[in-house]
Amino acid sequence: MLPREGISIQEGYHSPQVDVEIRLNTNESPEGPNEGFLEAVYEEIKALSWNRYPDRRARLLSKAIADFHNLEPENVFVANGSNEVLQTILLAYGGHKRRAAIFEPTYLLHSHICNLTSTNVIAFPRGEDFLIQKSVLGDLFQAKPEIIFICSPNNPTGRVEDREIIEEIVANAPGLVIVDEAYGQFSPFSAADLLTSHKSLLVVKTYSKTWALAGLRLGYVLCDKEIADVLWEVALPYHLDSFKQIAGRVALGAAAQMDERVKRLIGEREIISERLTSLGFDVVPSQANFILFGSTTLDAKYLWNELLLRNVLVRDVTSFPKIGNKLRVTVGSHGENQSFLNALTDIVAASN
Ligand SMILES: *Cc1c(COP(=O)(O)O)cnc(C)c1O
Repeated sequence: MLPREGISIQEGYHSPQVDVEIRLNTNESPEGPNEGFLEAVYEEIKALSWNRYPDRRARLLSKAIADFHNLEPENVFVANGSNEVLQTILLAYGGHKRRAAIFEPTYLLHSHICNLTSTNVIAFPRGEDFLIQKSVLGDLFQAKPEIIFICSPNNPTGRVEDREIIEEIVANAPGLVIVDEAYGQFSPFSAADLLTSHKSLLVVKTYSKTWALAGLRLGYVLCDKEIADVLWEVALPYHLDSFKQIAGRVALGAAAQMDERVKRLIGEREIISERLTSLGFDVVPSQANFILFGSTTLDAKYLWNELLLRNVLVRDVTSFPKIGNKLRVTVGSHGENQSFLNALTDIVAASN
């Protein structure tokens, strides 16, 4: 039997997990969490009553997240990765006859989750610089979407939206505005600053990137208390296990180490950008832990394959709407980045 309408798995949603040495395709942290993290988690899980269900509202974790952002625990909803947070928001506020606006190119999971929840997608184009243009805002508000997605820093472009454009969208949106800040630590500001004055704003964060915990599957949203209440109701009972509730709280204790990690990644990112530019590639200026780049002479799919032959996996984003002939590379460790750049130098030299 066919799945119900809208459930079509389109090409490009899932990054292939190929067995190669150097994996720079999913924007994970190249380093694990800080020293002492596992020991601290272990101390706490030893004392747990594992025969009991977890705290359904994850109160201690929500409190820790709220304290971290200077908000109240009631402003927080937590789930198994920010993708599940987004899915819960769409289950509650999207669905049949409702519409969500996106700005392309952007993170494919936004439209994918809309499709899964039977939410109609209205796509608006970004400018040449991959930023949201003021000129589309009239059409955007006129379309009266129930939900507007903003991704800043945007994946796969790495661009951060201007604060003014986010403020303007939040102030005039007819419905909810979801700002996906998966790479928020690289941005000079957070939309969370606007939460106290805007009840229809939701700011989504993840542990998967700069917190170096993609394996944990944990993400959260900061939003109005009434919305958070709805999300806790819509999520399945006990969706967040006891282990995660502890690990997520313990991780927040190492914010200083995370900031250091971000600084190192920025340093590496600039090294990669410069080398790519000197090799003749077009480099989209990034404010994240990945770089979108392309060539006017070399086919992106050809480059992707040649890199793979040299044991380097990057993300082929050519099937993303409005990206064109480009690849996305994650900033890895210094050694991984050097291997990537050396492989690319080799490919360029061979094709000249
Ligand atoms: C990586 C990423 C996420 C993270 O999703 P998780 O489910 O938390 O791992 C969310 N949004 C964007 C834009 C991303 O690039």
